[in-house]
Amino acid sequence: MSAEKKVHLDARQLYSGLIRLHILHHAAHEGIFGLAMIEELARHGYKLSPGTLYPVLHGLEENGLLRSQPQGFAGKIRRVYRATPAGQKVLKSAKEKVRELFGELFEDESAIEIARPRPRVVPVRATNGRNQGTAKVAL
Ligand SMILES: [Zn+2]
Repeated sequence: MSAEKKVHLDARQLYSGLIRLHILHHAAHEGIFGLAMIEELARHGYKLSPGTLYPVLHGLEENGLLRSQPQGFAGKIRRVYRATPAGQKVLKSAKEKVRELFGELFEDESAIEIARPRPRVVPVRATNGRNQGTAKVAL
């Protein structure tokens, strides 16, 4: 296996949990179906084929986190997935974990953000004392 392919596989493994969480998040708010979810995930930079997404949806349903039922959409029958009460519960505890991880992942960056001088808007006065508007200056 090439090194590039190995990195790709490792990344997929890392993202698979994020993708499942993302699906659960949307399914907790509204009914979702495969194709729309593929588009939604693509919007977030995850490129999934139906052959990858559908087994994920089926797996989540098998685990009791999602429940699906066929529903008519513009003359087509689609399988619509919604989070079950168990799915809602898992999502709630996963959110807590994500919040904690998020804090740790971006801890250093927010410290740099605070230390960096920010441009501030200060009034600029002409020599005659009249306010001539504002200008951005780094303090
Ligand atoms: Zn989303």
